[in-house]
Amino acid sequence: MMFRSIRGQSPAVRFREALFRGLAPDGSLYIPESIPRLPLFRHEKSAPLDLPAVATEILNTFIDDITPEGIREIAERAFSFPIPLITMGDEVYLLELFHGPTLAFKDVGARFMALALSHFLQDAQQDLTIAVATSGDTGSAVAHGFYNVPRVSVFVFYPSGKISRLQEQQMTTLGGNIHAIEVAGTFDDCQSLVKRLLTDREVARARNLTTANSINLGRLLPQITYYVWANLLLQKQLQQTKTADRNFTPVIVVPSGNFGNLTAALYAKHMGLSISRFLSASNANDVVPEYFTTGTYRPRPSLQTLSNAMDVGDPSNFARLQALYAHREQQMKDDILAVSIGDQETLDEIRRTYEESGIILDPHTAVGVAAVRQHNTALPPGPRIVAATAHPAKFPEVVERALGLTAAAPAQLQEAMQKPKRSTKVTAAYNEVKALFLP
Ligand SMILES: *Cc1c(COP(=O)(O)O)cnc(C)c1O
Repeated sequence: MMFRSIRGQSPAVRFREALFRGLAPDGSLYIPESIPRLPLFRHEKSAPLDLPAVATEILNTFIDDITPEGIREIAERAFSFPIPLITMGDEVYLLELFHGPTLAFKDVGARFMALALSHFLQDAQQDLTIAVATSGDTGSAVAHGFYNVPRVSVFVFYPSGKISRLQEQQMTTLGGNIHAIEVAGTFDDCQSLVKRLLTDREVARARNLTTANSINLGRLLPQITYYVWANLLLQKQLQQTKTADRNFTPVIVVPSGNFGNLTAALYAKHMGLSISRFLSASNANDVVPEYFTTGTYRPRPSLQTLSNAMDVGDPSNFARLQALYAHREQQMKDDILAVSIGDQETLDEIRRTYEESGIILDPHTAVGVAAVRQHNTALPPGPRIVAATAHPAKFPEVVERALGLTAAAPAQLQEAMQKPKRSTKVTAAYNEVKALFLP
């Protein structure tokens, strides 16, 4: 499979080059030249489902410059934690993507990307620098994915004072090959600093530089896996309830910020996975929902909300959505319902879900669940699967505000909280940042 740049002004490349470049030389994102067909998953009724095996089969259809055995090895290590499907009642399910080392779905992509890069670096005897902008969870997932990977150094750019203390501790306490850059600005400032570094020739001469944002295909492609996985789990669960006339085709609900997670879900459907429709839930950063109503895409500075990992004013993956639908707006609207949920509704949803089911939602997942509640009648009948993107213990302040209690913190969080923070403070001025990357 070759990957082409959306703008089409640089040559198509194989997976390895797309992985190392992140962004195509023409400044646009890489996309698959075509969408492969979903492999058939045949399961013995009694045999347990195997997540790394599902990942390997899917990634094999995209990646032809790592052997299937190599992909299997990477998938075993990247998908080393469980991804359960939990029922909330009323045909609503949570796909818990947050059981990895940093307790958010970004662990999946970050780990796969880190392991794929190190697979290629092994023979090449090259050093590599990763620059990544984060609005909260990306940074820690990438930092942990690359921690102690030989020949790799990581620079994580995050907006000072705009992420939770926990998120900050998770990325500033590792040390070693992980450098935290604390920017006096917004996430969008961080993102444009990284974009500029990636296209700067002087920096390119000094360093072998790439990024690890959700723009990197090495993160995007493995995320397709868990939507296929969710359908397999759902089928299995529904078959056990023996209701022959049950509608198995789910609506997929994705709390969205940079729209990488939604893009992966759309790829799954275009590959042939049975999904009736998508509900894309944004917070107050509603550029995409606005585009669906007005037809105008109006990027703007991001607003700070309670679901801060989704505070994105100009989502990079929107270009991939448009490319996937070849600008056929109506078809896109048929597939996707895009809505916006405010902070108060998010808090109300955390409370309501807790009262109804005892489940504690993190604010991002709550945006998705609130969207289902509000827009349920606009969706086709059948199960709804909400991507549960983070563990509630990552956002104790918000959960406390909604419920007056907090979720128990898993061990990996408790440990990060106790270590000393180390960061390099910079303004959003490009030249100041660039100096860090030159000898
Ligand atoms: C990053 C993130 C999102 C948004 O995902 P995108 O792929 O950027 O749309 C949602 N929830 C959590 C917890 C996140 O960390």
